[in-house]
Amino acid sequence: MKIDLTLAEGLKTPLYYYDRSLLEATLKEINDCIKGTPIKVHYAIKANCNPKILKVIADAGLGADCVSGREISTAIKAGFQPDTICYAGVGKTDRELIGGMKAGIAYFNVESLEELEVLAGLAEEYGYKPNVCLRVNPNIDAHTHHYITTGLEENKFGIHLSMLGQAIDFTKKSSFLNLVGLHFHIGSQITITEPFKVLCEKINALQKEYAEKGIEFKIINVGGGLGIDYDNPDENPIPDFKGYFDTLLQNLKLKPGQELHCELGRSVVAQCGALISKVTYVKKGVDRQFIILDAGMNDLMRPALYGAHHKIENLTAPKDAAIECYDVVGPICESSDTFGKDEKLPITKRGDLIALRSAGAYGESMASTYNIRTLPESVLV
Ligand SMILES: *Cc1c(COP(=O)(O)O)cnc(C)c1O
Repeated sequence: MKIDLTLAEGLKTPLYYYDRSLLEATLKEINDCIKGTPIKVHYAIKANCNPKILKVIADAGLGADCVSGREISTAIKAGFQPDTICYAGVGKTDRELIGGMKAGIAYFNVESLEELEVLAGLAEEYGYKPNVCLRVNPNIDAHTHHYITTGLEENKFGIHLSMLGQAIDFTKKSSFLNLVGLHFHIGSQITITEPFKVLCEKINALQKEYAEKGIEFKIINVGGGLGIDYDNPDENPIPDFKGYFDTLLQNLKLKPGQELHCELGRSVVAQCGALISKVTYVKKGVDRQFIILDAGMNDLMRPALYGAHHKIENLTAPKDAAIECYDVVGPICESSDTFGKDEKLPITKRGDLIALRSAGAYGESMASTYNIRTLPESVLV
């Protein structure tokens, strides 16, 4: 990604800066990889729901993966066709379930027996027959941060394997639900193939078990989770989609006519975004010096929330400037408001512009107004 500051002139910092050409190249890579395969990709819009970004993704023909009622309406407004939208979440309210049926979404990823019963009741009352994928908790360790692991039994997500038979029976017997498939999502920022292979094996075993009982699924949805390279955004601007899709296609035993759905979020948008911030102070401490930015944890929450690290660059310092060691922090009244410790950066001055790289996913969409700050602005260049 190239950051051309002349294009962001006149805009206020902190600023989310998005590179349209990298986003389009990423989408083209995805579309090239899935051409001629049974794969359909649904973009997980919680990763970045900026309308300008959503429109580019909808125009590329991806479907949408939503986790709230307002994500569904936002996706439709941005140009996603309702029948390409799937909807997951452990706590869908009655209003959200009804809204999804009214909008005509492709299917619900149902996460519990309790939700199935409520959805069936509402479908009867309102005269719909929604498509249902059952979200299975496959009890797989994705070897990622425990806050973003979702496929373990101890997590709140999905239907426990021991209750899946009951959920399938209920859905098949209901005149108001249409069982179309199984759904899985084991976590996020997964950078090794092993967990995806284990997932494929679990899915194969389940398919075999249910095929013996005469139950077939039209859709297998493996969720998202493909990780990106936060340390080397310039060397790896586009994730290894080919490797990821090949892992799925080689390890899954798909039936003829069966569709394979993926819900990619981070890997689609992370590298095309940077949070650009201005240095408010360079503060001398005892044994250390702090770069204090005008961006804080309310603008980019990942470091404070799960110790994530975004590559930090000084965009204005001369290329040949001497290197010094800094702690890079925000202005918020929390010590977790820290973007980097002992960062080696060119000598930095008040007024310099700093980029926090790979901030296109779970950056702007997680921003808050904590400390009654304004939300960051954005530009798609
Ligand atoms: C968050 C989420 C995704 C996307 O995960 P990424 O790691 O961003 O690819 C996909 N499916 C579901 C159900 C999710 O909650």
